[in-house]
Amino acid sequence: MTVTTRHGTEVLSDAELRQRRTSQSPAKAVKEVRDWAASAGTGDRHGVWGLSGVAGEIAALAGTVILMLGCPAFALYMWYTLTHLDGSVTGLLGFITKAGWRGVWDAWPTPSWAAWAHVIVFGVVEAALQLLLPGKMHKGPVTPKGNAPVYKANGVQAFFTTIALFLLGCWFGIIDPARIYDLMGEILSALNRFSLGLCAFLYVKGKFAPSSSDSGTTGSFVYDIFWGMELYPRIGKDLDIKTWTNCRMGMMGWAVLILAYALRQYQVYGSISDSMLVSVALMELYVFKFFLWETGYWGTMDIMHDRAGYYLCWGCLNWITAIYTSPALYLAGHPITLGGPLATAFLLAGMAAIYINYDADRQRQVFRATNGQQKVWGREPSKIEATYTTGDGQEKTSLLLSSGWWGLSRHFHYLPEISAAILWTIPVHGLDRCLVYFYPFFLTLLLLDRAYRDDVRCGSKYGKFWKEYCRQVPYKVFPFVW
Ligand code: NDP
Repeated sequence: MTVTTRHGTEVLSDAELRQRRTSQSPAKAVKEVRDWAASAGTGDRHGVWGLSGVAGEIAALAGTVILMLGCPAFALYMWYTLTHLDGSVTGLLGFITKAGWRGVWDAWPTPSWAAWAHVIVFGVVEAALQLLLPGKMHKGPVTPKGNAPVYKANGVQAFFTTIALFLLGCWFGIIDPARIYDLMGEILSALNRFSLGLCAFLYVKGKFAPSSSDSGTTGSFVYDIFWGMELYPRIGKDLDIKTWTNCRMGMMGWAVLILAYALRQYQVYGSISDSMLVSVALMELYVFKFFLWETGYWGTMDIMHDRAGYYLCWGCLNWITAIYTSPALYLAGHPITLGGPLATAFLLAGMAAIYINYDADRQRQVFRATNGQQKVWGREPSKIEATYTTGDGQEKTSLLLSSGWWGLSRHFHYLPEISAAILWTIPVHGLDRCLVYFYPFFLTLLLLDRAYRDDVRCGSKYGKFWKEYCRQVPYKVFPFVW
């Protein structure tokens, strides 16, 4: 086996290989491969927070149910607090005390036909753009069961077409941004119901008509709904559901909604504040970057690992819509002036963070696409040739990059991601508006957990090769710290 390190190329003899393998018996290695293939995307349901055995299983199940019930309520009352209570958490507590649980229940909007129409028209338009716009065919990574899904790479075209259609709709008076703002609670409520219906559909489809062999039950109804049954369900051959929910509804909805909020500020106050301009410009740049790199997204954990269920599909449809957009939602009703120097500083720093995050993702994607031939930061890349076995017993090879951004820490790209989120939120400054900062806070927890989950996943997929990568790049996220 050849291991290329930043210090050069190491050729390991069979004896050395055997020695490196000692920490892993053959039986354990086979079990790890089977676990990787069979349980991909189903999370750990046997333990949580260090609990194991029966207590761990009960805690994992209780945590799952609490998440499924709690997240919709959190998303809805986040919207309510930002739009009706000036974003104040103490205001929310005061409201709960005054109105009682009955009043809290009554504040949950029932979707009107207009709200449903917004959701359905947007969903249908995005599905049509996904199917009809031209794009190169892109082969996704090999799945645990040895399949290689094919996608149409037309995300950038869909992004510009959607923004153009939205702006034209506003110009010709077909779309009213202020009406979208006013309907937002109902739209969130409709999306929630729609997503629950989608999860039920995905469960039935996964059970009776899966699109591929990358599907299966966890043995538990709750986990089959929460984690999903299929890795990449499709309607027909071409409508990839995860691309539709995560990219074309979730991420695209983010881009459209923040534009609507900025225009609503203009409609009501006669101008758009510099805080709104900075926040929306950074978020639009981030979403554009996402679509520019969409083929890379098809090689990330969301797609390769997490199945289509409540966690992913409900999350992308509702959580992105309600939580990720929150700075602009707040600013739509509360214009804040930053002043030129501060606004410019936030804008430039945010752009730099988004660029670094993009460059790290791009570096890994180009490295893999060119089979490690492309120079990284002007030098030959340091790499590890890692073999693994798919669930059907086929031996495959992947390259792991251990230089450039990927040599600083194993998940360095999460740091600029978090920095960018802070920089587009910080235009909403002030302690009494701390609820808006929930997104960067949540993102930090999400990405730290993801770094942990990805290490576990890659460890069971690549075994000793991953250990070698960890030896060469010892830091998980923060270089020289952790
Ligand atoms: P990553 O881009 O970190 O991809 C993880 C996969 O990459 C691993 O499972 C492994 O897959 C492969 N890999 C890991 N290390 C290496 C290496 N050294 N060289 C080559 N390949 C490697 O996935 P994420 O989905 O976590 O992140 C993708 C982007 O999405 C990031 O920019 C992140 O910040 C962003 N993100 C944003 C979120 C948000 O809510 N705003 C949430 C999550 C992510 P393989 O099996 O192919 O080897």
